Amino acid sequence: MDTKIHWSEYTSYDYNKVKNLRIKLGANKIFAMGLMPVRGPVGFRKLDYEYAEKKLNVIDVMDKLEKCHFNTFGLVIKDTDGACTWDTSQGWNPIKRDLLGEFCDAGKDRNIHIMVSFTSMNDAYQGFLHPERVSIHGKNGKKFGKKFQKGEISTHDANEMRIDLPKGISFKDYQKKIPFLTNKQDNNIGKKRSERGSGYILSESFMCPNSSHVDYLVSLIKEVVKNYPIKAFTADYIRYDGSFTDVCTCSRCVKKFRADFGEDAKILKSNSWIEFKTNVIADYAKKVQTTVKNIDENCLTGWYSQVGPKKLVTLKRHGQDWKKLSSILDMSIPMEYPYLAGTRDDGIFWGLVGDFFYWYFVRNMKKRIHEYQSPVLAVTNSVECNVQEMLKQMRAFDFGLGIGVFKYFGTTDAQWMALKEYAEKEIGLENLN
Ligand SMILES: [Zn+2]
Repeated sequence: MDTKIHWSEYTSYDYNKVKNLRIKLGANKIFAMGLMPVRGPVGFRKLDYEYAEKKLNVIDVMDKLEKCHFNTFGLVIKDTDGACTWDTSQGWNPIKRDLLGEFCDAGKDRNIHIMVSFTSMNDAYQGFLHPERVSIHGKNGKKFGKKFQKGEISTHDANEMRIDLPKGISFKDYQKKIPFLTNKQDNNIGKKRSERGSGYILSESFMCPNSSHVDYLVSLIKEVVKNYPIKAFTADYIRYDGSFTDVCTCSRCVKKFRADFGEDAKILKSNSWIEFKTNVIADYAKKVQTTVKNIDENCLTGWYSQVGPKKLVTLKRHGQDWKKLSSILDMSIPMEYPYLAGTRDDGIFWGLVGDFFYWYFVRNMKKRIHEYQSPVLAVTNSVECNVQEMLKQMRAFDFGLGIGVFKYFGTTDAQWMALKEYAEKEIGLENLN
C-alpha cells in the first residue's frame, strides 16, 4: 500500500481553517503525546489511583516529551472512571492532586501546549452516584454474559479497565473509595483485545445525554477553562454506549423525541430515532463550544470521532454525525488504532489481523474524511504495537495538521527513539517550533 496518501484530495474543508489552527498553535504541525494519569505506568487496562497520586512525576514526563520534540501534550483530565484530576469544587478527585495545574506549570517553560481530553458521557462514578441519570435499555437483551431488561439502567462490567487492590487494603475498604468496584475478578490475560486486562472488574455507565449529567459536565468545563491556561479542550466519549443499540429510552429522551419527531415516530427502529440521537449529541457539542468560547475564545475545541461503518456503527450506535459535530467544534480527532486489534509481536496471525484493520481504517478514511467540516488531527497508538506498526500509522493518518500518539505510558524505549527521529527527519524541527 502507498504510505504517502495525499489526504487533501479527499478532504472537503476550507484549508484556511487549517492555517488558522496552525497560527493558534504556533507550529506548522502538531506533534502530540497523550497521557492517561489514572491508568497506571504500563498500558491503559488498569485503573491505578495510587500511581497517579504518589508516583507520577510531572517533570520527568515533560522532560521526555521535550527531548523527543513534542509540541503538544494531551492530558486526559477526566477518564471513564469519572475522576477529575484537577483542583475541583464540582467534581470527584480521588487522587487529591492538581495534576492539570502541575502540567500547565511544567509546560510553560518548555513551549509545550496543553490540550485536555475530557470524557463526557461515560462516567462510572456518576453512574454510581446518580443511577437515575444512567442510560436506559429500550428492549430486553444479553451482553457481557448478563441479561438485561427493557427499562433497566445500562450499567455493566467495564470492557477494558481492571484494578488491583493496593497492598494492605481490604476489598471492602477499597470499595468505599471506589464505589463502582465489583467483587468479580478477571485473571487470565489473552491476546484478543478484550482479554488483555486482569484484576478486579469495574462497572461502567454511559449517562443519559438528556439528563442533568450534561449540566454537571458544563460546570466542570467552566472550572477547567477558567482556571487553567490550556490551549485546547477536547471532548471524548461524546456519544452513546457503542455496546448497545437500545439506549437511551428514558422518559426524558422519549418525551423529547416525541416533541421533535411527532407522536407516531418509532422509537429505536427508525431513521428519525437515529436523527434524534445525533441531534442530542450535537446539542451537547454546542454546549461545549459555547461554554469554552464564552470564557476563552482562543481556546480550541475538539471531539473524538469513532471510526468505522457509517450507518450501522457511528450513526446508529454512537449517535456521532461527523458533519454535524465537525461543523460545531474546531477540530475533529478520529481515533485510528488499527494495531490495537492485533500486533505482529503476538505472532503471525495477530500481525495479519492488525494489517487487515490498518487497510480497513485507511479505506474508511478515504471514503469518509470528506464528512469532516473542520480540520482533522488523528490520534494513533504506540501502546500495544511495535515500532514499525506505530510509524506506519503515524505516516498514514497525518491528514495535514500533524499527529497525536496514544499513549505516554506503555511506549517502549525503541518507540521513543523512533518518535524522536520521526520528529527530526520526517516532520522537521522547523515545522514543530
Ligand atoms: Zn435518556
